[in-house]
Amino acid sequence: MRRPLVAGNWKMHGSRESVAQLVQGLLSEQVGEGNVDCAVFPVAIHLSSVLAQVAGSKLSVGAQVCAAQSGQGAFTGEVAAEQLQDLGCKAVLVGHSERRQLFAETDALVAGKFAAALRAGLTPVLCVGESLAEREAQQTEAIVLQQLRAVIELCGAEALRQAVVAYEPVWAIGTGLTATPEQAQAVHKVIRDEIAVHGSEIAAQVRIVYGGSVKAANAAELFAMPDIDGGLVGGASLDAKEFAAICRAA
Ligand code: PGA
Repeated sequence: MRRPLVAGNWKMHGSRESVAQLVQGLLSEQVGEGNVDCAVFPVAIHLSSVLAQVAGSKLSVGAQVCAAQSGQGAFTGEVAAEQLQDLGCKAVLVGHSERRQLFAETDALVAGKFAAALRAGLTPVLCVGESLAEREAQQTEAIVLQQLRAVIELCGAEALRQAVVAYEPVWAIGTGLTATPEQAQAVHKVIRDEIAVHGSEIAAQVRIVYGGSVKAANAAELFAMPDIDGGLVGGASLDAKEFAAICRAA
């Protein structure tokens, strides 16, 4: 009953030309047609051109970051969620592990950005996940729940109705090391059970997607798990045919 979502996180990749070719490839593969929601998350400066290129298709477009501040103001270098919404974006990634690790985004800041996205009418895609050291120290559950609870405390569990959660174990991102379907399912269930504490109906409705070295070869077995509702795809989303195959697997 939950419609699957496959999202491509393009990170800091692409030139005007390569981005246009990638989008063209996705359109010719008819990505987004069928029973799966498909979205791409280009670098901010390419959002306008990608939005123009996908107009009239089923492919939707989101941003990789937004400011925690709403509206407009003196925040050099930041982009407000309202501005992304005004441009035509539907969603925004919040709390990606690269933002948390490399750009010092704390749980509190991530929650603030989640709130800003909601106020602007965007779908926040809240990324949570543990590092290898945390997994080895048996802290996976504690870390993931701490990241989730920071958002629930600020925004309330009801807010998750408008959101997507992405479980992305940091050790699986860009490493070629995918969590096994069983490992991923176990954490997805922990997340859904935590949401169910606040409302079983919200928990049943919210999409929880998996990210971390998803590719066409492993997508189907991951997406077959009961609590995995699609994927957040990095490296493999930069190849139109590969991404289209992942979308077909959902
Ligand atoms: P990856 O990245 O698919 O290249 O592992 C996933 C992500 O960071 O969202």
